[in-house]
Amino acid sequence: MKETLLSLLKLAEIDGRINKLKDEQDEIPRQVKDDSQDIITRQDLIEKTSRDITEKELTKKTLTDFIQEKNQWVTSREDLVKDIKTNKEYQAALKEVATAKKEIKDKETALQGLVPDLEAKVTELAKIKDENTPIIDTLKSKILQYKLRFEDLKLELAKTRQERSEAKKNITNKDILNYYEKIHTRIEPAIAKVDNNCICTECGTHLLPQTYNLVAVGKEIQTCNGCKRIIYIEEILAEAG
Ligand SMILES: [Zn+2]
Repeated sequence: MKETLLSLLKLAEIDGRINKLKDEQDEIPRQVKDDSQDIITRQDLIEKTSRDITEKELTKKTLTDFIQEKNQWVTSREDLVKDIKTNKEYQAALKEVATAKKEIKDKETALQGLVPDLEAKVTELAKIKDENTPIIDTLKSKILQYKLRFEDLKLELAKTRQERSEAKKNITNKDILNYYEKIHTRIEPAIAKVDNNCICTECGTHLLPQTYNLVAVGKEIQTCNGCKRIIYIEEILAEAG
């Protein structure tokens, strides 16, 4: 029984490694998703601020063009006013010029409000880029590392599973092996150490003294009546022979 238990312990050790590899592998898609989302959020912020600036620049250009054109119009209109013959026409022309000047004034006021806004946005964008661009680069390289690690894990898992198949061959008692496999699908590890106080170290169940004695004698495989794991006593297994 001692040989079988030692082989089962070896199997449990391999299963422990397989589980760790699988856990790490399972974790990677979630991490990639989180980091990708983080990149998108940061890129969106940069893009949104850039769009704000483009819109404000467009508005600024529209206002500036309007003011320029209107000023030219006013100048030419004022030149013409001098040559007007009738008072009625003169009054109408003056009114037109006054309306145009009022429009210019309004647009200038709008422009005055817009320019500091635009400057603030440009400063904000530079700051956002400074803060986020290095983080985005780091996240991108992290994702690349995750993908490489994922491929490594696939190979490592395949290798470890092969090792497991080999280790199984050392267990000639197929009933015990099948029992181990059954427990293994439910609970990890599938084998539990019993301490000097007759307690299963995995589930804490206090074992009957006779069960402990049977394990100590090592004639047959015993299981914990709490967690159903195959149990062993470390000191007995460590003894020579
Ligand atoms: Zn137990």
